[in-house]
Amino acid sequence: MIPEPRTATERDVTRCTELLEILFSQEQEFTADGAAQSRALNMIIDNPELGRIFVIDIDGAIQGMVALLFTVSTFLGRKVALLEDMVVAPAWRSKGVGTLLINHAVDFARREGFGRITLLTDRDNETGQKFYRAQGFAMSEMVVFRKLLDDGTTLNKCESDTWMCRECGYLYDPAEGDPESRIKEGTPFVEVSGQWSCPVCFASKADFDPFS
Ligand code: FE
Repeated sequence: MIPEPRTATERDVTRCTELLEILFSQEQEFTADGAAQSRALNMIIDNPELGRIFVIDIDGAIQGMVALLFTVSTFLGRKVALLEDMVVAPAWRSKGVGTLLINHAVDFARREGFGRITLLTDRDNETGQKFYRAQGFAMSEMVVFRKLLDDGTTLNKCESDTWMCRECGYLYDPAEGDPESRIKEGTPFVEVSGQWSCPVCFASKADFDPFS
């Protein structure tokens, strides 16, 4: 029997940092930095107006976590939340732990009067996308832009110009686009429709990786 999630405390930071290391090792954009993760976890735990971290204990150890970070939507005229750092320890995946965590976060947000929850997931993380859809999340047409403020560079590897099909090695070059599929020259890969498929092998857009 898996217990209900609870709100994380300072005692949980070490274990949550380990879980984030697992998460970031799977995500294309991020590399783990234990000191930065601990600092951020403590920041949230010490300042509940910023957000909440929920964890799930199984047999005396935390095996999953999720964070809600709070902000405001002028469109909705309400508080809204970003759902971040959803991770379940590998041994406990596909056992309902993720669903318990999401439900707990959604119930919390509803109870506290939040109007919307937004989350980001890797473009090629089909398992994650299927999971979030099953939890009632719908994919947005919005595109994510970022600017890293330490040195002015962009963080997003997805801005790599050329993308390669994992199935056949075809390279999408934005300078050429894909005229046969009415993708105009000069169209960045991120702006290509999600319905588009590889012109050579018909693999889906999600089967492309940044090529550098
Ligand atoms: Fe292909």
